[in-house]
Amino acid sequence: MLKHILAAAMAALYMLTLTGLAELPLIVVPTAAPEAEAPEAEAIEAMPTPEPAQTVEPDAQDTEPDAQAAKPETEPGRLAGIVIGIDPGHQAHGNSQKEAVAPGSREKKAKVSSGTDGVVTDIPEYVTVLEISFQLRDALLAEGAEVYMTREEHDVDISNQERAKMMNELGCDLVLRIHCDGADSSRANGIGLYVNESFPISEASYAAAEAILPRMCEATGAKERGIFESDSYTGLNWSEVPCILVECGFMSNPREDELLNTPEYQRLLARGMVEGICDYFGRGE
Ligand SMILES: [Zn+2]
Repeated sequence: MLKHILAAAMAALYMLTLTGLAELPLIVVPTAAPEAEAPEAEAIEAMPTPEPAQTVEPDAQDTEPDAQAAKPETEPGRLAGIVIGIDPGHQAHGNSQKEAVAPGSREKKAKVSSGTDGVVTDIPEYVTVLEISFQLRDALLAEGAEVYMTREEHDVDISNQERAKMMNELGCDLVLRIHCDGADSSRANGIGLYVNESFPISEASYAAAEAILPRMCEATGAKERGIFESDSYTGLNWSEVPCILVECGFMSNPREDELLNTPEYQRLLARGMVEGICDYFGRGE
């Protein structure tokens, strides 16, 4: 008799489990718009664990609530689920040792060049671009993106090839390499974006550049110099993910040098890049 009751109870439990599980696919409704998927996926994670988990695995009960409590209760931003890499160009000391300019190439270039300096401020490029990169990082984080940087200090020794490989391994959706320009003429000014010409990621990189450049110029009022295609940049050639080299302005131009080294202008550059990134991923307003 007891056996029968137990068997019935087990059967009832089993049915509960089944119905509990059967309900799950109803929650996971695939939608056509990819943008809508991320918030829905989060909603599922945030939902209480279905009953069966409590009866089948009592152990799981102890860990679940803690794991949920640790989750930050923030609004998902426009870039939720997007992974962005930032490579602040150069470093305190260049490295003139050579490395291959592209996979399979015999041509070699210096691992990291030393960059330019501000004609008025005398601030080295590696300092300016790290400040711009921090502004960009903060603006991206505010939009819910996952952000990785190749360096957060000046005194590092990371070659351009290593920087690209680092971002590849992190599975970035897009990488921005932040630089400032220098020219013989002090009149040269404006923002220019550089992408690969003939590598597999060139097309996606170009599309991202097309989205970002106008937004940067709109935000800063800087001259739009254009998008330039080239296979001569080690950091672009080794990238397996869409990658853009952003020349934020000319440190050889007295006015731009001053602007590039003010937090206000750096924030405008970052805001422009973020708006362009949102447009590229179809998350614009
Ligand atoms: Zn540079």
